[in-house]
Amino acid sequence: LNRRLAEFGTTIFAEMSALAVRTGSLNLGQGFPDADGPEEVREAAVRALRDGRGNQYPPGPGIPELRTAVAAHQERFYGHLGLSYDPDTEVLVTAGATEAIAAALLALLEPGDEVVALEPYYDSYAACIAMAGGRRVPVTLRAEPESGTYRLDLDELRDAVTDDTRLILLNTPHNPTGTVLTREELSAIAELAVARNLLVITDEVYEHLVFEGEHLPLASFPGMRDRTVTISSAGKTFSFTGWKVGWVTAAPELITAVRSAKQFLTYVSAGPFQYAVAEALALPDGYYSGLRDDLRAKRDVLAAGLADAGFQVFRPTGTYFITTDIRPLGESDGFAFCRSLPERAGVVAIPNAVFYDHKDEGAPFVRFAFCKSIEVLREAAGRLKALA
Ligand code: PMP
Ligand code: GLN
Repeated sequence: LNRRLAEFGTTIFAEMSALAVRTGSLNLGQGFPDADGPEEVREAAVRALRDGRGNQYPPGPGIPELRTAVAAHQERFYGHLGLSYDPDTEVLVTAGATEAIAAALLALLEPGDEVVALEPYYDSYAACIAMAGGRRVPVTLRAEPESGTYRLDLDELRDAVTDDTRLILLNTPHNPTGTVLTREELSAIAELAVARNLLVITDEVYEHLVFEGEHLPLASFPGMRDRTVTISSAGKTFSFTGWKVGWVTAAPELITAVRSAKQFLTYVSAGPFQYAVAEALALPDGYYSGLRDDLRAKRDVLAAGLADAGFQVFRPTGTYFITTDIRPLGESDGFAFCRSLPERAGVVAIPNAVFYDHKDEGAPFVRFAFCKSIEVLREAAGRLKALA
């Protein structure tokens, strides 16, 4: 393994899901729903397979039906903010958000370029920045135990930008903290990007999982449309994480750049699933609000259960993750805690330290996923309570 990748080892999600299987534990670690997405969308995939649509290489940018559906989705949910995209020149279909992140970084970074990213960050960010030869510059979201939230220090963010900064890599709603950046924070980030002439890659895969307030795409802020690469995925919005259908929306030059990298990573992927996701994106508003309401209820069950079990809970306003602080349980090392938890309680969780460069900063935090049935969440909470 080369030096660029040596530090990354095996992704924590694979490690922890394997541990869950081996120990027969409830898996609140890796974020995947325990119920598949809508029946009619699965039927759409079956129809595409049977009718021979997408069984051979689909077009490089993605099938027109899906690009049109992505553009229509952006118009439906963000048109009132002035955001719209041309399906032919401003939309690119990828193998999940993961490939979109990799292709965007590989396409836009020169070796040595700095990337400012909010820490804790989703694990593929650091690895992909490294593969692209970039240097990551973390800006830490600070845990505020009194309010049970995380705060972005805008001065710290401004100070992190240097003459070598090429881009900001953003994620809102934010995995793993569940933070949704506010209008004021996004405005400040936009002003910074414009003032310092930076590109922004923004990972908005949890765009429909906002429980209080609303999701504001960074691209809708003044001066941002043409410098922002926006990424989303059918994995989260439609509960098909195994299909690996994601997409990018951006100005034509940026789409062309990302596609230049993408064509040599996978070329294309998921032909029949692209047809199904095109149909999924057209589901009525009620589908989207139903998903959100269902997950809000699940958040409330797990948050209450974790608090009852003695964890300090950082109540998420978005995503399907809850970050907790384990210090009230008399623990301080999230890694050790998560490695012993299956045996002690039959539950798997993720140590947030893996998402930090400043490992000490992340040490006492542990993440639980709540995209599971209410019964599983109640059972997990009960088992964790027995720990105390
Ligand atoms: N970004 C974030 C913040 C995520 O949480 C995930 C999924 N865990 C991804 C990207 C990857 O999405 P996909 O499965 O579509 O590749
Ligand atoms: N995004 C999911 C999570 O944060 C997992 C994705 C993966 O396994 N790579 O749990």
